[in-house]
Formats: sequence, C-alpha cells, structure tokens
Amino acid sequence: LSARYLLRFDDLCPTMDRERWERFERLIVRFRLKPILAVVPDNRDPELVLEAADPGFWERMRRLEAEGATIGLHGLTHLCEAHGRSLIPLHRRTEFAGVAKQTQREWIRAGLAILEGYGLKPRIWVAPRHGFDVLTLEALREEGVELISDGFARRPFRMGGLVWVPQQLWGPVVKANGVWTICLHANSASEEDVRRLETFLESHAEEFVSVDEAVRSGVQSGPKMADRIFHGWVLARIGLSRWRKRFGLKKK
Ligand SMILES: [Zn+2]
Repeated sequence: LSARYLLRFDDLCPTMDRERWERFERLIVRFRLKPILAVVPDNRDPELVLEAADPGFWERMRRLEAEGATIGLHGLTHLCEAHGRSLIPLHRRTEFAGVAKQTQREWIRAGLAILEGYGLKPRIWVAPRHGFDVLTLEALREEGVELISDGFARRPFRMGGLVWVPQQLWGPVVKANGVWTICLHANSASEEDVRRLETFLESHAEEFVSVDEAVRSGVQSGPKMADRIFHGWVLARIGLSRWRKRFGLKKK
C-alpha cells in the first residue's frame, strides 16, 4: 500500500488573509481535495486579524465542507495564555494545556456550538499550538468529539478513547507508506510554499484522502513501539533545530 496524504489548514477565521487563503482554495478545488479545515470559532488572537472580517467566510467553509472537507475545531479563541505541559510539547504557551477540566469542557462546547450555529459540522479536534492534555481528551469525549489531528505516528491509532489521525509534516514530502498529514498556515505561507504544494499535487493528487478515508485505511489499537520511537525522534529533531537556531548554527 502506498502512502496517503491529508492536508490540514490551520487558523481559518473571518479575519484571515483572504488573498493568501485563496491561493490554497484554488488548489483544493482544482485537485478536488478533502482537507481538514481547522476553524477558530471565536478568534481573539490579534495575530489572526489580518483584515476586516469577510462576510462570505462561513459560506465558503460550508461550501468546502459540502465538497468533502472535514471541519476541525481549532480551539475557541486561539488566545494562548495557559502554561500547562502538552501531550505534544512543541510550545510553552497554549490555549488548553493545563486549564481546569470543567473550563476546557465549556470552551469545547462553546466552540462546537458556534461552528454548528454557522451550519458547520466540526468533527475533529485541532489544538492551537498542539496544546492539550489528558483532561482535554476527556472533555472532547464527553462533548462527543471522537477524532483528533495530532501525534507523530505513521498511521491513525486509538488512544485515550479517541482516534488520532497523526500530523507529522509542515510541507509535502514523498513517503513510501503510512498516512501523513501536512499542516499549512495560509496566513504565513510563502509563494514558494504554494508552488511546492502545487508541484507535489501534480504528481500525487491521487494519494490525497479525507479524514474518513484515512481512518478507513486502518486504525491501530495504540501507538506501536516503532511509533513511540518515531514520536521521540521527531520531538528530538524539532528540539535540535530550535537549539541550532537559538545558537546561530543554522543559516535560517
Ligand atoms: Zn493555530
């Protein structure tokens, strides 16, 4: 079985950079992709306010969902003020990790209600800055969310009562097998990032799947030993590249 790829777009909200988003939306339409659209229900993060709110934003999301995209719940406000340690420890401050269980549950419920109010069906959790803890998993389950987009495994797996669709890449990379989620941020993606994705799609579009197709390809009962090693290796590599940047050992 060859590799399968899934696209995930983060930080979608009415005040995102519309022109930059449209570069990706054109690719979604042209290649009939079914990505994860990670929407911020009630954005309060000034970094995601790049222009006046687009009155057509929600209709745009509804249309893409109708064509096969899966709506992701990308936190509630995207304000990252909590200091707790996340299960995927890539950032010091996040929105959810370390927050009291009941509060997390209220935020998740509020986020789902807002998106549902706009006619969307949020089905997968996409934590802002990968920030979530075991209490988040419990709160998600209690609010009826069964899917999560995160983790550094090679295939979807079941853990903590949820199905994890791993997210391991931040740009297209050819893989021999496994299910690979490529996370993109339209607000900050360069022309070069868009071109790279387009070139990759021209030869690999057939290998792109939806969340449901990724899950149908098989869910392991838990992360396998090889996945635990892979997880540790990815975190170590990210840590090393930050360390190199901090000490100026890397060009960029
Ligand atoms: Zn985000």
